Amino acid sequence: MLIDNHNRRINYLRLAVTDRCNLRCNYCMPSEGIDFAKKDKLFTIDELTAVSRILVEQGIDKLRITGGEPFVRKDLMVLLRRLSKMEGLKDISITTNATLIGPHIDELKQIGITNVNVSLDAIDKATFERITRRDQYDTVYGNLIRLISEGFNVRINFIVLEDQNIQDILPILEVMKNYDVSVRFLEEMPFNGGSKKFNTINWNYKRILEHITSKYPDVQEIPSPKTSTSINYKIKGHRGTFGLIPSFSRTFCGSCNRLRISATGDVITCLYAKPCANLRDILRGENMEERVKQQILKAVGNRAATGFEAQAKYAKVFENSMTSIGG
Ligand code: SAM
Ligand code: SF4
Repeated sequence: MLIDNHNRRINYLRLAVTDRCNLRCNYCMPSEGIDFAKKDKLFTIDELTAVSRILVEQGIDKLRITGGEPFVRKDLMVLLRRLSKMEGLKDISITTNATLIGPHIDELKQIGITNVNVSLDAIDKATFERITRRDQYDTVYGNLIRLISEGFNVRINFIVLEDQNIQDILPILEVMKNYDVSVRFLEEMPFNGGSKKFNTINWNYKRILEHITSKYPDVQEIPSPKTSTSINYKIKGHRGTFGLIPSFSRTFCGSCNRLRISATGDVITCLYAKPCANLRDILRGENMEERVKQQILKAVGNRAATGFEAQAKYAKVFENSMTSIGG
């Protein structure tokens, strides 16, 4: 079992499979993209399998595949098939922009990977295309509705962006009210690869809630697991739920159970922290299993208590892009 230096059990791995993406969301990266990693710097599918197996042996039982856009990797399904059979792994999920998932929906269901987070920051097509800088709304919306209709456990991630999509917050709840889906509103974080700079946000989770309750005054908070990053609510008459994620306010750090591994092998113990090790060369060298385990134990034993503590030690944190950290 992995227990960190603040006595928190670490059982959740967020594994990035690529830093590349077919969208250019303006809160994630600049329009020209970032300096994407060369192919030989990315883990191969065999390496991603090996690293997952080692961490599962150490006590990880929940794994989220992220990126970049996971489905830009043509060999992603090979990894997912292997993970679906990995003993000890109880919960596998994927975060995706849903542009490329369509052809894989049947097989995902068949292998039992049904937890899918879809990023959708607008319900209005023009707003979506302004934010993502790509013309993919119809595909994304079609795949989203298909996933929900086919019984996947779908959560929508909607990043609240001042001057960009505030006008879509209430409409997305209205459009989704007949669907069994959770719409989660996330605070924007300054990990955009230099697209824009900010040190604070005007739309924090409290303001988002005030905005929502201006239309739905009788929202009811519903219980959430202790390690959840979202505060969840039910609106009377809506089939699904909505959630608020204070990703910039960081109210949930105390119960954090996560570890991140980037597509190039960086071990990241907090979104706001500097990578504390790199596993790629270790995995390609001698005696790798033992050495990977040591690095993980060391990382877990040296975690910051909160994102604020981590940020204080890492002056360049806000130069990062979420596509290379893995979200
Ligand atoms: N491409 C996939 C997607 O968009 O779902 C997976 C990778 S993306 C980096 C993972 C999550 O991070 C997405 O939900 C995305 O909206 C979120 N994200 C990216 N940049 C962010 C930022 N600056 N602030 C808050 N969330 C961000
Ligand atoms: Fe791509 Fe996801 Fe970043 Fe958007 S948020 S640019 S879809 S990695």
